[in-house]
Amino acid sequence: MKALVFHKPKDVRVDTVDDPIIEEPRDVILKVTSTAICGSDLHIYNGYIPQPHSMVMGHEFMGIVEEVGSGVSNLRVGDRVVVPFPISCGTCHFCNMSLPTHCENSNPEMYGPEGGLAKGKGGALFGYTDLYGGYSGGQAEYVRVPYADYGPRKISDNLTDDQALFLTDIFPTGWSAIDWAELKGGETVVVFGCGPVGIMAMKSAWLRGAGRVIGVDILDYRLEKARLAANAETINGKDVDAVEAIRAMTGGYGADVCVDAVGMEAEHSFWASAKNLIQGEMGTMKTLQRCFDAVRRGGTVTVVGVYGTPFDNFPLHQWFDKGIKLRGGQAPVHNYIDNLINLVETGKVTLEDVITHTVALSDAAKMYDIFNNKEDNCVKVVLKP
Ligand code: NAD
Ligand code: ZN
Ligand code: ZN
Repeated sequence: MKALVFHKPKDVRVDTVDDPIIEEPRDVILKVTSTAICGSDLHIYNGYIPQPHSMVMGHEFMGIVEEVGSGVSNLRVGDRVVVPFPISCGTCHFCNMSLPTHCENSNPEMYGPEGGLAKGKGGALFGYTDLYGGYSGGQAEYVRVPYADYGPRKISDNLTDDQALFLTDIFPTGWSAIDWAELKGGETVVVFGCGPVGIMAMKSAWLRGAGRVIGVDILDYRLEKARLAANAETINGKDVDAVEAIRAMTGGYGADVCVDAVGMEAEHSFWASAKNLIQGEMGTMKTLQRCFDAVRRGGTVTVVGVYGTPFDNFPLHQWFDKGIKLRGGQAPVHNYIDNLINLVETGKVTLEDVITHTVALSDAAKMYDIFNNKEDNCVKVVLKP
């Protein structure tokens, strides 16, 4: 089959690889009908998350069940499903605690002295390096889906692929950023990063009763997308000091909730002092620091942007002094997806308006480059195998 294969940083290609086969009773093989490129894929593409050998990428995908393992009784050949991006068994210590992104069984290599990590560091994702379980991803014609009786959800034929695809990752991820903030209604929510994930957080904020939604980015076309797709007020952090702007918009107090939907690849040159750069901070912490600065005392910061560097200068004093509530992590998609499918099916939210590019899988490598460089007003790329 054809698949988008990571070879080394900045080198991804559509290659011919072996078709996936059923390996475990709880597997299904999915024929992929739509799959997206994610900001998270860029961390691998840019070499921030190392991958020592070639790997089929992609964790946002949906399709038609092609073959069913003997241990899967709830799916049949021909079913149309979306698949949560975390690979989770549904029965282990952490899955039982509703922590599917920490599943012990999907990433057993992470355990013991060989793995070098303490028990409790599990969790696997499709197409997301050996660190996350070494599974092949779904930017391919076919993909093996483990624990298929637990993850995949059937989708009504009334929904198009474009309407349903983002239930796999970016809508649940944006939703978790807001769910973790436990809104009571009327809050001012600021989202740093107007990429697909940030825009989904903005949509979720409205759905959960926010009174005001403000998006911050450094690219005008992304800010325009946030206004159009999520009805947000916007601040360009390249033109003004975003923290001062947020304080001015909130009577000097700061926002009730700040969401970091940028992560470790933040473009830092606009606010990092040269001194910080010399100290080797790179982009790490820059957006999180802005969130800590821009949130009101006693407010909440949630982090869905990925941080993968082992050391940083966490603003401990500020966290303590302001009494900031802080949550973050990989989105526990399994916990939210059924509710979110319902919101899409009943027309309470539209997800497909973030799509700017739909191309054949054969054009995937070129689209990685365009999405990475934020060219051609690219917000979200959908690939059609
Ligand atoms: P993206 O690259 O399309 O969007 C990132 C946005 O941040 C861009 O619009 C960029 O212009 C903006 N940006 C960069 N530097 C900035 C700065 N200093 N201040 C303000 N904005 C800045 O990526 P995406 O697909 O929207 O993903 C966003 C983040 O969410 C990534 O880190 C991704 O890995 C992460 N993510 C996390 C989860 C999860 O489960 N937690 C799931 C999916 C994606
Ligand atoms: Zn993703
Ligand atoms: Zn598990």
